[in-house]
Amino acid sequence: MIVSKFGGTSVGTFDAMQHSASIVAEDANRKLIVISATSGTTNDLVALENPELDSTSKEEILLRIEKRHFEIIDQCKEQEQIRRDFQELYSELREHLDQFGRDKRWKDRLYSFGELMSTKIFVQVLRETGVDAEWLDAREIMKTDSGFGQAIPDMKQIPKKAAKFIQPDKVYLTQGFIGSDIFGSTTTLGRGGSDYSAALFAEAVKAEILEIWTDVAGVYTTDPRLVPEAKPIDEITFDEAAELSVFGGKVLHPATLKPAIRSNIKVRVASSKEPHKQGTLIVTRSEQEPVVRAISLRKDQTLLTVHSLEMLHQHGFLAKLFTVLAKHKISVDLVTTSEVSVSLTLDTAAKASNKVEITEEVLAELREFCEVEVENNFSLVALIGNKMEVTSGIAGDLFGMLRDYNIRFVCHGASANNICFLVKEGTGEEVVKKVHKKFIG
Ligand code: ADP
Ligand code: ASP
Ligand code: MG
Repeated sequence: MIVSKFGGTSVGTFDAMQHSASIVAEDANRKLIVISATSGTTNDLVALENPELDSTSKEEILLRIEKRHFEIIDQCKEQEQIRRDFQELYSELREHLDQFGRDKRWKDRLYSFGELMSTKIFVQVLRETGVDAEWLDAREIMKTDSGFGQAIPDMKQIPKKAAKFIQPDKVYLTQGFIGSDIFGSTTTLGRGGSDYSAALFAEAVKAEILEIWTDVAGVYTTDPRLVPEAKPIDEITFDEAAELSVFGGKVLHPATLKPAIRSNIKVRVASSKEPHKQGTLIVTRSEQEPVVRAISLRKDQTLLTVHSLEMLHQHGFLAKLFTVLAKHKISVDLVTTSEVSVSLTLDTAAKASNKVEITEEVLAELREFCEVEVENNFSLVALIGNKMEVTSGIAGDLFGMLRDYNIRFVCHGASANNICFLVKEGTGEEVVKKVHKKFIG
């Protein structure tokens, strides 16, 4: 059995939907199809949450969402049912926007309209392509905690629900990104979370293969939008691909590979525009494991530095620091420490799958036992590869060529698969281009 996930651009227009549907039709093993919202729609929904939005802008966004979907509906042969389904969701969306209490639960329900709308339409395009798929509400299966915005899937419940709702001989179409908690409230898995949903579904139905169909022909040596010379990678290990996605390779949501590794599911990333190109296979061991495989960039990083003489020859300081951060559910990415200071990096990008907010409350708690400095606007550049901690000369080559840049923070040695560092926001892209050219070509 194959679980196939199609991202926003692969279902963004009628033509894109048709391409994706014909991919599904080509192999009868593609039995569970997971899709995202049409491209741009989740961003539009996020824009609608702004309480200060004036009514003209609100209407503009709503009309844009409506138009985008009707352009697809208008090209379907049978339109009656999907028109009705879409109108129903669209009215619910309008009603939802009029409700009070714009809390996180309200936001997740708002975001869920994107995937609900796209699946209601794609199910028809699939049928017109000869795939008799059943529409499935992902919220029946994707059970999560109540961590709205970044809900954590319930690994015990998901396979049980999948067994209840999914029959092996049928084809299903469902939504990525969304789930529901034990009270039945809609939750989401964080931006870009459809990849993760698809991996969890693949695990739940014991699929052999997980396919991620996107707008580029696989995982590249760096973001091809940023560096046109970037090359697609034929084969990459789980360890490398996991690091790449964590450090900014948007092509996969950072948590996607966890279920695949756990349950030994082969993963293929490919382009729905060029389906016959092999794309990238993600495997446990790869024949070629180069020292530098790829470069990634993550913008909008924050550096939190704490300083305290209490640390000098004392124990327990780091425990105290991390207790405060854990209490506020702040996920720390990288850490370096000296005898009296600790620096941490945090992902504060609006679209981060694991966005962090440092509130005044957190700062006040930290200031009770140390001095705290928060610096914003950094880019995190990471070199991803193999045996990096035992390869001589790599740090010398890297930092030698970057002698004109202020390298604010370095993490090297902890992982065999990466070296990463912070540079000032404006220089991140330039640094990635240079590093790519030197180490990959
Ligand atoms: P989807 O909607 O299919 O999930 P995304 O936009 O989330 O697609 O992810 C695909 C995009 O990821 C590509 O268009 C590319 O610009 C970006 N990207 C960033 N890093 C990489 C990389 N190393 N390899 C491939 N794509 C990358
Ligand atoms: N539609 C969601 C987003 O834009 C989930 C996804 O595309 O993976 O974040
Ligand atoms: Mg994505």
